[in-house]
Amino acid sequence: GVILAIETSCDETSAAVVRGGKEVLSNLVSSQVETHRRFGGVVPEIASRKHVESITLMMEQAVAESGLSLKDVDAVAVTQGPGLVGSLLVGLAAAKALALALDVPLIGTHHIAGHIYANRLIGEMLYPAVALVVSGGHTELVVLEREGSFRIIGRTRDDAVGEAYDKVARALNFPYPGGPHIDRLAMEADDVNELPRAWLEPESYDFSFSGLKSAVLAEINKARMKGEPPMRPALARGFQESVIDVLVTKALRAAEEFGARQLLLCGGVAANRGLRGTLTAACEARGLPLLIPPLSLCTDNAAMIGAAAHLKWVRGEFTPLDAKADPLLSLEAWSVKD
Ligand code: ATP
Ligand code: MG
Ligand code: FE
Repeated sequence: GVILAIETSCDETSAAVVRGGKEVLSNLVSSQVETHRRFGGVVPEIASRKHVESITLMMEQAVAESGLSLKDVDAVAVTQGPGLVGSLLVGLAAAKALALALDVPLIGTHHIAGHIYANRLIGEMLYPAVALVVSGGHTELVVLEREGSFRIIGRTRDDAVGEAYDKVARALNFPYPGGPHIDRLAMEADDVNELPRAWLEPESYDFSFSGLKSAVLAEINKARMKGEPPMRPALARGFQESVIDVLVTKALRAAEEFGARQLLLCGGVAANRGLRGTLTAACEARGLPLLIPPLSLCTDNAAMIGAAAHLKWVRGEFTPLDAKADPLLSLEAWSVKD
């Protein structure tokens, strides 16, 4: 099946054409990051308006670049949630209109299922699998017992990892989005300002990053009281080491407990070099197969939505044309029916 996929859940307008759930024929992303930077974060009203301005062109270009034509499209997939409701609505309206015009099925798709199935675009997935989802709005450990089945065994109790990165970066005077700046600084640092790890209860797969963020802010204040600038590299490294230690340790424990044949890393923070490096080394040491998408498939893109939607396409699970955008769509409920 050839799927035309649309992603507009946050501040990227993206359209892609994906064949068979794994072959990316085109994947265009128009980022609004420059527009939102001066506000220090995504402004929902502006995001929706920008999506309206670019969605039609993105869809046309995705088809043009795929080398196929609209009559080759077998289904239209779109992110139905979670995300900003005004942003989701733009993509959903465009997808419904196209599905109706082409008389093909609509497949409302879960954004995080998309992040996880970005890995299908780079290799064969083995089950059971454990996915570590790290993004701007989510931090979750997900068990995939079978293809297309999702069970969340742990999640953040406060900030998402990406959110913590962005807040810490902001406190250290880096522009939005700050994750890549902290990553670079941490890699360059000569020394480390040790910071606590939030392990929570011994059995728990949950996460917490707000205490760590507060610890960084306290260090910055301490320096300010002494009339000194904060030691940015050492702090960035201390923060990053704490984050990675907890994420990697819990992911490996989950892989062991649930008998995973493969570990999957995904979401925007999967672009983090420290995290990629540490997880790769840990998995190699255990002989545990690991998939991590290339950077372009870690951050929001429509190809990953096409990959996830294919799960529903092969099972004939389609979405009615009166479906609504759902900012709180459940990943587990989106699992395939069989
Ligand atoms: P969600 O997928 O949960 O709805 P989102 O789509 O906004 O949220 P993504 O686009 O998947 O999130 O990821 C964006 C986040 O990734 C930002 O918080 C950004 O700072 C972070 N990020 C990007 N590159 C890096 C990096 N190298 N190190 C750490 N964080 C990074
Ligand atoms: Mg984004
Ligand atoms: Fe995302």
